[in-house]
Order: sequence, then C-alpha cells, then structure tokens
Amino acid sequence: MKLTILGSHGPYPGKDGACSGYLLENNRMNILIDCGNGVLSRYQRYYDLRDLKYIILTHFHSDHVSDMMVLRYAVDIRMRKGDIKEPINIYCPNEPLKVLDDLNFNGVFKLNIVDEKTKLKIDNLLISFEKMEHPVLTYAVKFNDGKKTFAFSGDTMENDRIIPFIKSCDVFLCDGNLLGDEKGPHLTARRAAEISKAADCKKLIITHLWPQHTTDEYFNEASKVIQDVIIAKDFEVYDI
Ligand SMILES: [Zn+2]
Repeated sequence: MKLTILGSHGPYPGKDGACSGYLLENNRMNILIDCGNGVLSRYQRYYDLRDLKYIILTHFHSDHVSDMMVLRYAVDIRMRKGDIKEPINIYCPNEPLKVLDDLNFNGVFKLNIVDEKTKLKIDNLLISFEKMEHPVLTYAVKFNDGKKTFAFSGDTMENDRIIPFIKSCDVFLCDGNLLGDEKGPHLTARRAAEISKAADCKKLIITHLWPQHTTDEYFNEASKVIQDVIIAKDFEVYDI
C-alpha cells in the first residue's frame, strides 16, 4: 500500500492548505479517505475523476466532507455526458442525516452505511471499522493487504477502543490536533504518540494539524514519547 497526504489541516485550512484527505493506493486501485476542502483538486494531481471508485468518509464534519458537495456536481455532469459510467461507492456513517441527505444527490454516489461490524473487501484489501469518540458518529478505519496493516483514527478523543483496534499496525495515521493542555474533541500530539506506543504500532504519522501550530511544535511534543514520529506533510508519500 502507498499513502499520499492530500490534506492534513483541521478544522480549517491554513494558507494554501487543505483539510482531511488521504489517498491510499494498492496495486492499480485507489481509495480516497475523507474529502475535506481542497482535496478534490489535489486528488486530480494523481488521477482523473473517472478513476475515483471508492471513498471512505470517517465522519460528517465539514473539514472531512465539504468537497463531496462539489464532487457531486462534477460526477452528475460527467455521468450525463457519459464520461463517468457508474456512481462512486461511498462508505460512511448513517448520521447526521442532513449530510447523508446532501450526499443523496441524483444517484451520483452509491451510499454504503458502515458501523463497527462492517468488514469490506476491496480488491485484496480487508477493511474494518471501529467507533471513536467525537461530537458526531465517527469511525476509525483499518486496511490489511495480507501482509501490512494501515490504520487511521479519524477524529477522536480518548477512548478504550482505539488501542485494541490499531494493535501492532505498520502505519498508524492519528488525529493529534491539540498541543499541551489544549482542550477539544481531538487527541493531543503527546496522547497520539502514547497510544501508538501502547499499541506497538511501527510507525506513527500525526495529522489533523491546527494551521496555527508549527510542525516543530507537534514534533517536539510527540517525540518526547516516540523518537521517530512523523508529522503529516501535504503531498508526502509513505510506503506501507
Ligand atoms: Zn471532526
């Protein structure tokens, strides 16, 4: 598997930034994980929208889904032109209903509701989900290609389910939005590092970065727990 960071900011993009969006490639197949503002444009650096067959949405906060609202126009028009033949498969939670209704647009998306029991197989990837702790229903997601495991926390606060879910994964992409004693519905960089260490993950990438914090600030906090932590950088590619 290969992971490309399309957008790492949250809950709003800084100058020239983009919010949550991650391109996971495996063999000749690609999956877009989250589609926040700026992500649709950046996806097209790598693929035409005809190649966008699978999107996983961890939750329905705007910084994770706002570009879905313009993607629906693109797909609608291109389907009518005959340029895109099939609706895009979306895997997402079932609430808030208002956002689900917005995604239910002219048949451009095939909406597949996920929960913590869902097991998907896309190509040779086994995909599973776990409920996280956030103001709206949010799932962490995990991909296994038979050899390696990649997990993404989505957005989350402290909870008991995350460590068992990500146990021993090869790459763990984790919300570490907060620093020091900041409060919010996210983890601090330090807690992200402690959770990754407790779960024996081989590599941690911290993401969902507050645009006014610097990469150095995140690194300094997390590296007190794990030496070789990575702070997500847009367009960086990580082999899994
Ligand atoms: Zn969120």
